[in-house]
Amino acid sequence: MRKGLWSLICLSLFSLPLLAKPVVIAHRGASGYLPEHTLEAVTLAYAMGADYIEQDLVLSKDDQLMVLHDIHLDTVTDVAEKFPGRQRSDGRYYAIDFTLAELKTLTVSERRNDKGEQVFANRYRGHAQFQIPTFEEEIELIQQLNRELGKQVGFYPEIKSPAWHRQQGKDISQLVLAMLRKHGLDNEDKAIYVQCFDFTELKRFRQQLGARVKLIQLIGENSWGESGDDHVRLRSVVGLEEIAQFAQGIGPWLPQLVDMQTLKPTELATWAHDLGLKIHPYTFRLEQLPKGVSAEQSLDLLFKQVKIDGLFTDFTDVVVNYLRQQPEN
Ligand code: CA
Repeated sequence: MRKGLWSLICLSLFSLPLLAKPVVIAHRGASGYLPEHTLEAVTLAYAMGADYIEQDLVLSKDDQLMVLHDIHLDTVTDVAEKFPGRQRSDGRYYAIDFTLAELKTLTVSERRNDKGEQVFANRYRGHAQFQIPTFEEEIELIQQLNRELGKQVGFYPEIKSPAWHRQQGKDISQLVLAMLRKHGLDNEDKAIYVQCFDFTELKRFRQQLGARVKLIQLIGENSWGESGDDHVRLRSVVGLEEIAQFAQGIGPWLPQLVDMQTLKPTELATWAHDLGLKIHPYTFRLEQLPKGVSAEQSLDLLFKQVKIDGLFTDFTDVVVNYLRQQPEN
């Protein structure tokens, strides 16, 4: 009987969802400190203790997967100075119009707004010659560090604007999957999640292309135009049920999980967890805390009340240090 009771206690302990340690996802590397997505920002995030490092992926003219947040180059590089006249009729410079060799001549800087000012004024202000990395360079860097340091820091690639890439005559998802397979990463047991805002494409990635890697459906607002899907429906119970048929979790925008007026959790997290979906919201930034709320209070709310399973952050060190200070369950 005592043995029976002990088994019951063990069973209930092991079934507690809190026992799964939440993961820290370095959003565009340690982008709070160094220009986003550069190998330097990736290396810093790695050293700060990230569990996963994010790669936003777009294609070059010669079908190379580049780690770049936008299909455009002008807000984070000196493309206008180096390649005058290569913009499209809308005035924007597109990565897809440049070869890998051309993209490698660009210098990456802090993100700027349309007035040319740094979006986050207090971040990196230096002038080092940072470059746009390829996805394969970043895979190699993280895999080499993992081997040398005996760690298992994971990958978190995002397929950017797949419908737009298709309009340009390119199937970015096929190329992402081929790259993952080349490096043994299309595997549900590996430390990697593939994310996408495009529901139709993510479903195709699993069901038509046969991807085995873990998938995260990103959820945005319809007004952002990130995909042709209805993102209000995606965060309803019906939408979440459809996501749960092929993905392992959701990546919602923080204000979809927490009412920013009352600071109370919405129902989204409960619905998602009831379906067995992990919740990895974006993006925790020290510059964008709710008014009158400290970083620690924000993280308490997210990890203890909403019970998120992971968090995208520009400030890997802040979230890693917070989680290290929490008592083990
Ligand atoms: Ca992203």
